Amino acid sequence: MMRESYISENDVGFKRIHPTLGPVVIVGGAGKLGQVFANLFGLSGYEVRILDKADWARAPQLLADAGAVVISVPIEATCEVIERLPPLPVDCLLVDLTSIKQGPLAAMLRVHPGPVLGLHPMFGPDVSSLAKQVVVVCHGRAEAKYQWLLEQIQIWGARLHEAPASEHDQAMQLVQAMRHFTAFVYGLHLKREHADIEQLLQFSSPIYRLELAMVGRLFAQDPSLYADIIFAQPDALARARHYLQRYQEALALLEAGDKAGFCDSFAEVAEWFGDFAEQFRSESANMLMVANDSRSV
Ligand code: NAD
Repeated sequence: MMRESYISENDVGFKRIHPTLGPVVIVGGAGKLGQVFANLFGLSGYEVRILDKADWARAPQLLADAGAVVISVPIEATCEVIERLPPLPVDCLLVDLTSIKQGPLAAMLRVHPGPVLGLHPMFGPDVSSLAKQVVVVCHGRAEAKYQWLLEQIQIWGARLHEAPASEHDQAMQLVQAMRHFTAFVYGLHLKREHADIEQLLQFSSPIYRLELAMVGRLFAQDPSLYADIIFAQPDALARARHYLQRYQEALALLEAGDKAGFCDSFAEVAEWFGDFAEQFRSESANMLMVANDSRSV
């Protein structure tokens, strides 16, 4: 129900929280996520300007009276683009949407003395609305001056989660970098084993189908976004090595035919998951039911 009400709101527009804000300039606004935000700001009655790769000659005009500048360029270009900005109006909000937060936030604080905010939308450009989506908020400077944007994002339907940039980046190692990396390895493995996807699906239960869909969807997307997310994390390599170690530990149990050892480790992890294990079991049962009902083939 809630989802539908947001979708219909998308057609008619949203309440504008900051009626006197100057133009919103989206750097990288021709890109996938930039377009989503250009659309949302536009639907909320803000004047939106795009500053993409080919527009730097016009940057001084585009930015002269900006009320907010939103950085939405590829991760590896982010800091360089922030450094390249001409001086912004002193009250202008400088905000970024990058999937990593420490570097871009520090760069924004360095170049702009006014309000600064780091955001990480935890969704891709393919969402139909922001309902139930999460946006991570990393405070930068002069919070009172960007409160309007936080309210605006909630009007768009998203939930905010505040976190220090370092905590965000650490969590992302597991939530994004490692998850995408293991999905990548699993995809690579299926390919190298010459797995027949059609055939796997014939044999598969709904849960395997869902798992395969989670892996397969990765490969329908832009490889460079995932390369950036994985490679941009400073300790991605150490984390991946730890993961490999765990894999080797588990492999040793298999090599030794040590079922009891396997069960011991299993119990150890189950204890660590605690009440979440049961919660996840019932949550996933619901998801599987929905996934099964909405299967296209
Ligand atoms: P994208 O490649 O679709 O868009 C990037 C845009 O930036 C392009 O239009 C490109 O022309 C432009 N650009 C590149 N260099 C530029 C420069 N020097 N000056 C001006 N514009 C330049 O990428 P995207 O998927 O929209 O990602 C953009 C940002 O959003 C990244 O920081 C990413 O981490 C973040 N993000 C993406 C997603 C996602 O799922 N796509 C989710 C959350 C956050």
